[in-house]
Amino acid sequence: MLERRRISVEGIVQGVGFRPYIHRLATTSALRGFVRNDAGAVVIEVEGESSAVDRFLAQLTIAPPPLATIDRVQLEARTPTGEATFSIATSDDATDRSDELAVTIAPDAATCYACLRELFDPSDRRHRYPFISCSHCGPRLTILDTGPYDRERTSMAPFPMCGLCLAEYRDPSDRRFHAQTNACPECGPRVRFLRTTDSRLRTDDAALSAARSALSAGEIVAVKGLGGFHLACDATNRAAVTRLRARKHRDTKPLAVMVRDVGAARELGVVGDAEHDLLRSPERPIVLLEKAGNRPVLEALAPQNGRIGVMLPYTPLHHLLLADAARPLVMTSGNLHGEPMACDDALAISRLGDVADAFVLHDRRIAMRCDDSVVRARRVEGGASSGAFVRRARGYAPRAIALNEHVRAAVLAVGSHLKNTFCIAYGRSAVVSQHIGDLETPETRVTLLEMIRTYGRLLHVVPRIIAHDRHPDYASTRVANELDADHVVGVQHHHAHVLSCLAEHGVTEPAIGVVFDGAGLGDDGAVWGGELLFAEGARCDRLGHLGYVPLPGGDAAAARPWRVAASHLWNAFGNDETALPAEWMDRGMAGELRLLRQMLHKAVHSPLTSSVGRLFDAVASIAGVCDDARFEGEAAIALEKIAARDTDRAYVVEARRAGDSLIVDPVPIIRGVVADVRMGRSAAEISAAFHNTMCAVVVAMVHDASHRTGVRRVALSGGVFQNALLERLAGTALARLGYEVFMHEKVPCNDGGLSLGQALAATRAVSERR
Ligand code: ZN
Ligand code: ZN
Ligand code: FE
Repeated sequence: MLERRRISVEGIVQGVGFRPYIHRLATTSALRGFVRNDAGAVVIEVEGESSAVDRFLAQLTIAPPPLATIDRVQLEARTPTGEATFSIATSDDATDRSDELAVTIAPDAATCYACLRELFDPSDRRHRYPFISCSHCGPRLTILDTGPYDRERTSMAPFPMCGLCLAEYRDPSDRRFHAQTNACPECGPRVRFLRTTDSRLRTDDAALSAARSALSAGEIVAVKGLGGFHLACDATNRAAVTRLRARKHRDTKPLAVMVRDVGAARELGVVGDAEHDLLRSPERPIVLLEKAGNRPVLEALAPQNGRIGVMLPYTPLHHLLLADAARPLVMTSGNLHGEPMACDDALAISRLGDVADAFVLHDRRIAMRCDDSVVRARRVEGGASSGAFVRRARGYAPRAIALNEHVRAAVLAVGSHLKNTFCIAYGRSAVVSQHIGDLETPETRVTLLEMIRTYGRLLHVVPRIIAHDRHPDYASTRVANELDADHVVGVQHHHAHVLSCLAEHGVTEPAIGVVFDGAGLGDDGAVWGGELLFAEGARCDRLGHLGYVPLPGGDAAAARPWRVAASHLWNAFGNDETALPAEWMDRGMAGELRLLRQMLHKAVHSPLTSSVGRLFDAVASIAGVCDDARFEGEAAIALEKIAARDTDRAYVVEARRAGDSLIVDPVPIIRGVVADVRMGRSAAEISAAFHNTMCAVVVAMVHDASHRTGVRRVALSGGVFQNALLERLAGTALARLGYEVFMHEKVPCNDGGLSLGQALAATRAVSERR
């Protein structure tokens, strides 16, 4: 019997070779009809014998193209029309609104192995062509101006395909059938090399060989990539690395390295199975590897850091540069301190001209900026390994996170002030944007607004609920107040952290949250960051926290761990200077301690804080590990790095009850650290004891909360949990005690994951109000 069916497929189905796949499937089953991209889905109509239609439907989801993800399939019966062929129709711009978020755009994907083979095959017409790609690989999000994904709506639009490319594009049996990024040296984008000091332009292979010479001469080369610029130099050349640091004003911040293959990665860091898979995944993040030994080259790239960030090439241009250079290359993001990543060629040349000796550019515009993602492999005792994001961006955004609750009205959460991301949630999905960065300059705020608009367009939603952090001075809060909305909901910082972690795991039941981070505005006006919370529906109760310590200078103190230590020491010993370690006192600046004491005494600009991030800073300084932090988290990273292994020594944990709250006193911890320093114990031993102590704090907090609530689900969140040692200690201890522990896997535990939790908190608050 003849029948016709309309099939709508939702998921990541645009720009991943899905329509060609459908075309092949339909034609091999002798079906007629069409397939086209719709605003929210791929729409298929097939007509033919019932048995063939049934077979088609059954096969549809069995082996989709590698980059596709099918979320939903909907069927409708139609009247046969007698169509004679199966065609790929042009896109329908009509916004077919449903009550689900339509995330049809794929993240950028690393060059696939089929394309790589051609890239290095001298007989292939794309031999050494830096923009080779196919249906299974290449840029997606970063070239997209607006949806649906078709060449004319991407920055590939100015490159009409040549005859050969068009033939591939039209051939259903070709890997490039309907590949919107299809191009070749005849018709596609071209690479060029430009020197800061001379106006001569080199193109194509001449550009690549000029780049190779520059890199091997130790020069710094700005390389245009997918979502921005990298600054590249020979990672094994100490002078080059030092010059890059000096020009970029980046003294100690770790520099990411790109290597040719996993073998080369092993020379820098320890690559286990989990790291291996992450390195080679199509997302190609920067993977934080434990350093392989203590060679000077590793120390120069990531000073006082136990890890080094390594990634494999993810564009054909990278593959060529790495193959030609035959050595690891530093590939650090080409933004100047505090500024968003340069995207535009002219802008990049003017901004990076003082840093780079030369530029490798190309004529394909970057439509959307997107940094490299940063992950660390996480090994869970007895469990499967997973990844923990430090930064989630290229390769992952805009992939949706499936929710286990229904968001009835679209909501936009504008995220945090630092490490900003935003989130749009609707239906049963949430899309978290790529890492946008710190909103310290007017440019970053403009970028945030632009991206919010672009994502709204891509996702076809106009959120009427806006969620923001309760901190009035966050730039994101100001952005939220400028946007038009029906509801604007302020969400407490640590509440958002807990919900973010729970949302990832689909946990909607009440749960305990332990949030250790740097700083977030608390309901009482203090700077929170060592919180024991209980989240239930739209509510979040504070069940306890680290005892308050005044912090002279507030948030600014984070840059000077020595100063934070002075507060904690004053809190523990008052004015008794004889109790303080002499070495620590000697490292202060003249009069610094006296001035801080006056501020503390008079309580001048000294907000109270329960921050565990600051407690790490204080301990790092007292132990002599780090007195000044040149980037956020430097002290904690250095402290984690030196921790002695295999010791269970710990300081005393004292908790008392004040009203409904459990207060964990930092004083015995600080006193223990000071006693160790005065006894001449090594920083390694002190660090190990402190990590064990903080694990005991987590356990004590969770015990108390579980006793009071009867709940045994625990979410660990906040930037402090980027610390792999603390995360492992606490996670293992809680699991052994029978708690169900949730850690971040899909978004960062730091403020980069905040927007997801904000979105859910606001949704729940609004639906409760109704
Ligand atoms: Zn490919
Ligand atoms: Zn071509
Ligand atoms: Fe935070």
